[in-house]
Formats: sequence, C-alpha cells, structure tokens
Amino acid sequence: MAVNTQTSHHENVDDQRPQNYRSLSSKFSIFTGVLVAWIVVVILCWDLRQHTFDLAKGIVLCCVVALVAGAISRFSMRLLARPLELLQQGITSVREGRFEPIQVSRTGDEIEYLGESFNRMIETLAHSQEEIRQHQELLEDRIRQRTQELEKAMHTALEASQAKSEFLANMSHELRTPMNGLLGMLDLVLDSGLSLDQREQLETAQRCAYSLLGLLNDILDLSKIEAGKMLLEKIPFNARTVLGDCVQSQLAKAAQKGIDLRFEASEAGMYEILGDPLRLRQILANLLSNAIKFTDRGYVRVHLSSSFRSDGRVTLQFSVRDTGSGIPADKLPEIFEKFTQADGSISRKYGGTGLGLAITRRLVEMQGGEVRVESEPGKGSTFTVVIACEPAPASASKQPSVKGTTAAPAAAPNSGSRLLLVEDNLVNQKVVLAILRKKGYQIEVANDGREALQKLDTAGPYDLILMDVQMPVLDGLEATRAIRRESKWSRIPIIAMTAHAMNGDRERCLQAGMDAYISKPVQPAHLVATIEKHLGSRTEKAPAPPPAANSIDRVLTDRLMREESGLLNDMLQLFLQLAPERLDKIEAAAGKADPGTVAEEAKMIGAAAEQLASKELGECARRIEAAATRGDFEQVRQDVETLRREIRSLEALTT
Ligand code: ADP
Repeated sequence: MAVNTQTSHHENVDDQRPQNYRSLSSKFSIFTGVLVAWIVVVILCWDLRQHTFDLAKGIVLCCVVALVAGAISRFSMRLLARPLELLQQGITSVREGRFEPIQVSRTGDEIEYLGESFNRMIETLAHSQEEIRQHQELLEDRIRQRTQELEKAMHTALEASQAKSEFLANMSHELRTPMNGLLGMLDLVLDSGLSLDQREQLETAQRCAYSLLGLLNDILDLSKIEAGKMLLEKIPFNARTVLGDCVQSQLAKAAQKGIDLRFEASEAGMYEILGDPLRLRQILANLLSNAIKFTDRGYVRVHLSSSFRSDGRVTLQFSVRDTGSGIPADKLPEIFEKFTQADGSISRKYGGTGLGLAITRRLVEMQGGEVRVESEPGKGSTFTVVIACEPAPASASKQPSVKGTTAAPAAAPNSGSRLLLVEDNLVNQKVVLAILRKKGYQIEVANDGREALQKLDTAGPYDLILMDVQMPVLDGLEATRAIRRESKWSRIPIIAMTAHAMNGDRERCLQAGMDAYISKPVQPAHLVATIEKHLGSRTEKAPAPPPAANSIDRVLTDRLMREESGLLNDMLQLFLQLAPERLDKIEAAAGKADPGTVAEEAKMIGAAAEQLASKELGECARRIEAAATRGDFEQVRQDVETLRREIRSLEALTT
C-alpha cells in the first residue's frame, strides 16, 4: 500500500515536469557529443582536403566521440543530476508533509553543501512542526477540558433553573393561601368600625398586599410556564363576554385617572370558542393595565373581531390602543423580555416589574398566536393579539359564559343524579357542594379513597364520581384503579379534580381509569358541563331537590357561582372559624354588662356576615348591637342564640 502511494507520488512529480523536460545529463552528453563530433568532422574534412583520409582513423575518431559523450553524460549524471533529483524528491516530500532528510552526495562542493543545508532546514522544520503539534494537542486538550467544564456548568445551571421553576410552581398553593388569608382578614377588619387613621393605614396595607399578590402571581406564572407546567384549558366560552368583563373590571381604575376606556366588538364576529378563558382574560388584563398605567390623558380602546379561516378554525383578534407615553422604536423588541422596561424613569414613576408582557407573549404563543406592538413616543401604543382557536361545538355554545351571570342559574339537565364527591379538603368540599347542589344534583362526600370505596359498597349506586387526586389514606389514582377492578362499578364515570395542573397529570388520571380531568380552582360552568357530558342524557330522573331553602343558601351559592377565586371561600371559612369565638366574647361581655365590647364585637360579626353570607345574619348582629346600646342584655343573649343557630345552619349547608 505504502509502496503504491510512493509510486504515485513519483508519478505525480513526473506529471508536474514541463513537457520539454530533458535531464541535465542528457543535455551535457548531447552538448559534448555535438562538440566532439564537430571536432571529428573538422579533422575528417581536413584529411579529405589534404587527401590523407583514412577510414580506420575515422572509425576510431567516431568511437572516441561516442565514448567521450557517454563518459561526460555519466559524469554529469553522478555529479549534478542525481543530487538535484534527490533534492527535488526532498522538496516534494516536504510539500507532502514528510520531513525526511535526503541522501547527500559527498562531492565536496556546492552540491554537497546544498544537500546539507537542505537537510538542516528539514530538521528545523520537523522540529517546529513537532512543537506546533504539541501546542495543538495541548490546545485541543484544554478546549476539550473547558468544553466538559462548560457542559457540566450548563447542566448544573439548567438543573438549578429547572429546580427553581419547579420550586416556585409548586409553592404557588402554599404562597397564595396565606396571602388569601391575609387579604381576607384585612377585608374583615376594614369592614369593622375604624378610626379614619386606622382605615387609611389598613387600606395602604391592603393595597400593598394586593400588589404583592399580583407580583407573586406573575412570578409564579412565569416560572410555571418556564418549567413547562402551565396547562391550558380547552372549554367552550364566549370570548366577547370574557373580554368585555375584563374591560368592565378596569373601568373604575380608568375613570380614576380620567381616561375614557371603551370596548368595541365587531357585530359579525364568531365568539363562541374552545379555549382557556382565564388565560385569555389574563392576556387582556395585562395589556389593559399597562395601557391605563402609561396613559395620563386621552383614551384606551379595546377592539375585538373574529373571522373564520379556511381550515374551519376561528381567528380571534383584539387590540388595545392608548394615547399614552408610547415606546421608543429601539426599545420595542425588548419590552417582551422578562424584567425589561422601556424607560426606567417612566416605569419607576408608574411601578411594575417588567414581567407582564413576558407572560403575555408566552401565553399568546402557547395558544399558537402572536402579539404585535406599534408605538410612537408621545402619541400612544397599540398592542394587537391574534389567536387561532377552534369554534365551540354548537351544543356547548349555549352554555353560560364562564364568569356566570347574577341571574338564578337553571337546574342542570341531569339534576337529581347521585354524585359522590371524594375530596379531603374542607373548603374545596364546600365550594363543590354549593355549586352542585344549586344545580340540583344529589351529592355525598367521602373524605378519602377508602371512604369512597366503602360508600360505593354501602350507599351506592352513584351516577358519577368526582375524585380528588392527592388524598391521605388512599389517593385518587389508587381508588380509581380499585373501583375499575370491580365489574359492577367499572362503568361509573369518574372525573378527576386536581390542584396540580402539571404536564402528565391528565395522562396519569386517564391511565388509572378516569374519564375526564378538571383542574382546581374549579370553574362552576366547566364543572357542570363536564359532569353533564359524562352523565349523558338520562331519561329517568329522580325528582330534583327543592330549591335553596333559605336566604343564606341563596346568597352564598350565588356568590360561589360568581366568584372564581378561592378568596371568598377562604374568607367564609375564616368567618365560620372566628364567629363562635366572637359570640362567646359577646356572651361573656353581656354577663359582665359591658355594652361597649358587646356592640363592638356584634358590629364586626354583622359586617362580615353581611358581606359573606346574608343580610338576615347581618341584621341579627345589628339587633345585638342595638340591644347592647340600650343595655338590654337579655335580648342580647336571645339574639346571640339565634345567630349561633344561623351560623350552624350555614356550616351545615356548606359541609
Ligand atoms: P411592567 O409594566 O410591569 O413594567 P411589562 O412587561 O408589562 O412590565 O411592560 C414592559 C415595559 O413595556 C414597561 O415597563 C413599559 O416601559 C413598556 N410598556 C408596556 N406597555 C406600554 C404602554 N401601553 N405604553 C407605554 N409603554 C408600555
């Protein structure tokens, strides 16, 4: 193989020789031959002229000519051509990257000197080549090492970032719950009799708590998105109602700044779509709060339109136009990055964290849409959101909008069906019970999976099961598997309810044998729609239970239907916990004939009760207040008893 390569090298060298190439030795021999032949011809011509020509002498001379030419050729070959050829081969080897010394002819002249110099040059070249190679190896080693270190660092950073996002996403519940408690307590205190100073201070605390909650929600949302744990709902809703409600909720803020805020929707649009109303509302709320924040005078307009696409889907487009400060052109590409603000000084004046638009863009992109901005400093900005969504199925489009209405909700088509709610959290039980009882379902509660199995055995059959996933004793997945193993229960629809809207949860629930999945906090319309879908059309219905018996029920369930956040439920829970304590205090104060304490405590209970439960409860508390002022402590004791009864019935209703 090596030999062949060598040969081909030589062939290459030969190929590179010029076409009229003739070796030095042949040139010398031709030259000497011609010279000697010319001398011979001259001698022979002279002999002919002198008539002394001798053939033998001529032949001898010709032989001499041939011999001399041969000798000179050989001599020049040995002395000149061979060393030069070796030198040329050496150069070729160097050109091909081989630093081998050439064989030097020991002629003791310039040729030998040239050969030696060439070999020294080769030696130096080989040496530097070796040094370069060693440097290269060293560099490659270092690069490899650095790359490994970088990869390791990147891996660690990624893991840390993932862990951070996961931590924040998982903390959402833990952080929001005390915040809700804090806000609820502030609300309760603000509803009681306070001096002007105290009110102002508490209202400041309330504003701070709300902005803290907003910031918390933003950070948690972003980390949830970055950890890939933000899941979007796909439920039917009316986009026009949801976005209109959102604009409505910001009217007061705009009016406070003297800004004219309007919502316009193209009449011809199709707004009954399938998607995530909560997130759509969040997108508009972010854009709208910025528009109001950065506008000092003029107007803010929200325009909504929609059109059908050729693939049967609907393009929903809405824009928020303001006459505010505007954004410099060079800042436009940056404002959608997290923690970025166009103008630090302006943003300091208005506050903010630079997270709103980052979340907005990610939410829009998660729905396969895009958000654009056009702006002129000093004149205003227009943010436009375009999302392609599926139209809601015809039957679903008649369902109430997610925000619900204050009108009395109608009973569900399958009202009277027997449902089993498996849920360990008391507040969640109350919320779901209030929603579903209002719809006319008969519903029983099991506190964990094992209790659910017992109830199925002893109190069944049930038409549908609502199953929490994380529970003590026996969790929702295990309980579902156990239910599915029993052939008599294998066809009962089971709907999972989980607070962890994380990727993979849905699949785990379905794999365990559940039929559907909804995430908490439950949205009343979605919960009812999912239950109805799985109950199907049933011909034989048990009679619906009588409508809500008393005013407490009506007020409470109406509120639960209207409110989507857990705040109200947590506040109600707090009220139920605190009220008996306050009633004890009232009784003790009445025993000591202390009208001041009785009146103060009764006032607090009255304000909270009116806000959370019913007017009647509030009025009862006010009667206690009035009786205390009159000094009629017997009446106080009687009304305290009535209040206790009312509160107990409220507790019974929500359990
Ligand atoms: P934040 O408003 O909390 O600072 P955002 O991500 O919502 O964060 O907005 C980023 C930046 O974009 C803002 O700080 C502001 O400089 C600019 N911006 C956003 N909306 C508007 C608007 N409607 N008018 C003027 N500037 C805006």
